[in-house]
Amino acid sequence: MPNINNYNNKNKNTDKQVVSTALLALVIFITILIGCRGPTKRELPMSPKSSFLADSSFDKLEDTIPKTVLKQYPTYPILRIGFMEGYEKIDFRVSGEFTITDLEGNPIFSEVKSHLKWRSLLDQAHGATFIYCVLVTACRGEAHAIETVERLKRLYPQVRMQRIGGQLVISGQMVNDNTKYRILAGAFETEAEAKKLSQKFIDSYAPRVIREKVKESSGQIEVYDAEYDYSAMIEDGFRIEPLSEETTVTLYGVKVGSGFNWESMADRTYRGTVEVRIGNDARLCAISEIPIDRYLKGVVPAEMPAGYPLEALKSQAVAARSDVLAKFGTKHLNDPFDFCANVHCQVYSGTTVETENTNKAVELTFGETLYYDDRICDAVYSAVCGGHTEHKHNVWNPPEEAYLTGKYDTKNPKAFHLDLSQEKDARKWIEDRPDVHCSLNQDDLPTVLSYSRKYFRWEVSYARKELEDIIKKRTGDDIGTLYDIIPLERGISGRLNEIEILGSRKNMRIKKELNIRRALSQTYLRSACFVIDIEVDQIGTPMAFTFKGAGWGHGVGMCQIGAAVMALNKIKYRDILKHYYSDTEIRQIYEAPKP
Ligand SMILES: [Zn+2]
Ligand SMILES: [Zn+2]
Repeated sequence: MPNINNYNNKNKNTDKQVVSTALLALVIFITILIGCRGPTKRELPMSPKSSFLADSSFDKLEDTIPKTVLKQYPTYPILRIGFMEGYEKIDFRVSGEFTITDLEGNPIFSEVKSHLKWRSLLDQAHGATFIYCVLVTACRGEAHAIETVERLKRLYPQVRMQRIGGQLVISGQMVNDNTKYRILAGAFETEAEAKKLSQKFIDSYAPRVIREKVKESSGQIEVYDAEYDYSAMIEDGFRIEPLSEETTVTLYGVKVGSGFNWESMADRTYRGTVEVRIGNDARLCAISEIPIDRYLKGVVPAEMPAGYPLEALKSQAVAARSDVLAKFGTKHLNDPFDFCANVHCQVYSGTTVETENTNKAVELTFGETLYYDDRICDAVYSAVCGGHTEHKHNVWNPPEEAYLTGKYDTKNPKAFHLDLSQEKDARKWIEDRPDVHCSLNQDDLPTVLSYSRKYFRWEVSYARKELEDIIKKRTGDDIGTLYDIIPLERGISGRLNEIEILGSRKNMRIKKELNIRRALSQTYLRSACFVIDIEVDQIGTPMAFTFKGAGWGHGVGMCQIGAAVMALNKIKYRDILKHYYSDTEIRQIYEAPKP
């Protein structure tokens, strides 16, 4: 077991004071802000996850600090996954006996035996209230956070820090502490004001505007079965609690791939408790509450084709488990759930997509989690690295992670002598088809893999006008006639970190790979590892732009196609994980339940 039980509280008092003072100031500010809108019963930020608030270190101000949590479980972690958002009605059917309770667990209908379709219908609702502020940066050390706040206060007085994440305790053992400090600036009613402030910090940081919830949503939901034998009007939300392990809840018309380019509708079946409640947007949302490995059985087949070799699926299971535990309590801070079911977190599709192979991969690695330096690894992954993985800090904000450093995706890195951060070498690399794990150069590949060849190297072309329209639509800025796109900085894998777009009306700099991929495509470019070719007319005006690229995804951590090829070549999952996450080790942090 991890020997990280010696965590201490020696800094708690200073910590409490600093956080308390900062938050008190914020609360006063927010109260003034909201005070203009007339009286309301309670204006302080509230935590929808109050059941986790076992840490009473903030005594009277506890309500104002919902972000510091201690998550404690007797056997294994239970996750709350938000899989539906923005619905007027949610229809469901339960396969066996169940109870419906309110959000506090008080029964509304007990031991129901009904195979009918049920409907929950939004009656009336108020959305949550938010303020906008600038997330300037984040770090792990408290001292560093305090120092940053002091330094930035000279630039702008209203800077504060916020503690997120916390300790994870399973069977009495502390298995992880992912406490992080976010440095926030300002508190505004509009996004535009916050965006303006963010410019103050742009030279030294990669600031972004975030929302903070200051008032919870509320309302009423009508729930009834098809024959109206049961009906009730319920405040704020309700929970469907199946009374046996085998009983499942099917939800109808679940939007799949929301926000990305493969949106569709499907019926989805879930095990465990399903909660329906009024979301921040004053619409219904649904949450699946399940043990972590049950969740992973729905994630692994959604994130990696079930036809991949078992050792690759096992790597995927361990990576997904580590990823989710490393981020536990640090995402979706405004939402009544821990993770969403989309690409933003990890794709989760309930029991509908479970397969024998992927279930086996989860069971054979039960509780196995990647560690680096006594901390659970944020074991991120992407589809195809393109031949070289990327440093974490080139893609996301600090802190840097030593186990997420970019490397050639091969067992023989000495074969390459290129500096992919340089334009000339990047072009040579992208126009070539080097022999690496994910290049899929070998002949005898199963179809499930050979299908992915097209992602290793790709090409996309636009007429100039078409690209001008895309840039305008995706960035909100009209650059006029597009003259050129200049690569300013590339990461170690050749992925662009910053570009400059030159136009007749204005020039525009875009930082970070995802922003670059978004700005230059109706959806997202496959990756930010690309070179730009421009076709010009006789007088030198651009006519068309072609992006030649490598890989699919951010490229940090495990390359999924690379993992599949390694597995095909008889490499075990432990070694696959070691290749992609340098100097890490696997620990089993909880055990499978006895049958
Ligand atoms: Zn998410
Ligand atoms: Zn790769």
